[in-house]
Amino acid sequence: MSQGPTYGFDTLQIHAGARPDPATGARQTPIYQSTAFVFRDADHAAALFNLQEVGFIYSRLTNPTVAVLQERVATLEGGAGAVCCSSGHAAQIMALFPLMEPGRNVVVSTRLYGGTVTQFSQTIRRFGWSARFVDFDDVEAVAAAIDDDTRAVFCESIANPGGYITDLDAIAAVSDKAGLPLIVDNTSATPYLCRPIEHGATLVVHSTTKYLTGNGTVTGGCIVDSGKFDWSASNKFPSLSAPEPAYHGLKFHETFGPLAFTFHGIAVGLRDLGMTMNPQAAHYTLMGIETLSLRMDRHVANAKKIAGWLEGHDAVDAVTYAGLPSSPYFDRGARICPKGAGGLFTVGLKGGYKACVKFVDSLEIFSHVANLGDARSLVIHSASTTHRQLSTEQQEAAGAGPNVVRISIGIEDADDLIGDLDQALKQAAAK
Ligand SMILES: *Cc1c(COP(=O)(O)O)cnc(C)c1O
Repeated sequence: MSQGPTYGFDTLQIHAGARPDPATGARQTPIYQSTAFVFRDADHAAALFNLQEVGFIYSRLTNPTVAVLQERVATLEGGAGAVCCSSGHAAQIMALFPLMEPGRNVVVSTRLYGGTVTQFSQTIRRFGWSARFVDFDDVEAVAAAIDDDTRAVFCESIANPGGYITDLDAIAAVSDKAGLPLIVDNTSATPYLCRPIEHGATLVVHSTTKYLTGNGTVTGGCIVDSGKFDWSASNKFPSLSAPEPAYHGLKFHETFGPLAFTFHGIAVGLRDLGMTMNPQAAHYTLMGIETLSLRMDRHVANAKKIAGWLEGHDAVDAVTYAGLPSSPYFDRGARICPKGAGGLFTVGLKGGYKACVKFVDSLEIFSHVANLGDARSLVIHSASTTHRQLSTEQQEAAGAGPNVVRISIGIEDADDLIGDLDQALKQAAAK
């Protein structure tokens, strides 16, 4: 469909990027389960390989089903373009890849998804990159951590595990002043609750594995480019501003303007890193996105009700949900995530580590899994699972202390979820 800027979110989440299949008229987006696409003739092939014409060559780079998803997520985020890839973690590497070189660093928030902490603190060092972890509530500390080798600033909009809200406007002001792109992981908020580009983000990354798909079926990732960053304003981003030897000296920014990052992500990132999303995964995610706003509204309503109930419970020490008026992030949440603070929070139990283990083992509707953002309610005791290699001190710094359970509220009946939590809390307190 033509994308009039007047269409609302609920319309775009169903229609953006999609059109009836030109070959068959199929109304739903077909799964183009094909590795390669036939060239019209040798000239067409040459034009595609020279990036003079946009089209489908080979599914490591581009696939028509994946392309619909890319256009849909880009539209929902208000970006110029998007590249899908195999997972959220792939998206993070793909976002940093055009910006970084050996010896460069990225300034990142301490409040991140556990796997991202490991990726940034350990694995990216193998590329000669490094991450500087800073408390993003301390805007001056973020500015102070930036040096001549910094190439990006990275945070989550609604941050793991406690559902903290990052002041994106304040962080964007810092990255702007330093001439650096701000990358925002918008997985926990989704574009329905938060639109980071409107708060100054340059790039938005997603684990589409979570709320965008929403049914726990496939892993995937996406990088959306705002199209607003001037990659040629300094000599810091030669991959985008300088001649690319692999494309006869083509300059991505000069040639593709606001689509430079997106074209680079496909033509160099996917081509050479190969972290490709498959068309089946794109199909499941497209199915999920059609109901995104409906699901997010329910996640938020349930989370508000349940967090409020937990806060008043005798066995509970603290609840971190930014949608509660008692949260220090409540006002910021209303500004950054006007439609709600998401479905993710942590609860601290007075009974400590032992009570937490008993609690997660006693739950019946909630599943104890290392995942979030599913239609079903999920729970994890980080200290005995994802964060068990860390010291108690490190666990606490990450918001995952021994007495803390992370909860991802699903879209079931809130009263059933409360009933389940109630019986499990009773069992946890029993001895
Ligand atoms: C899950 C998650 C990731 C990693 O995504 P995968 O699809 O599991 O690779 C990154 N960031 C956040 C906020 C996540 O929740």
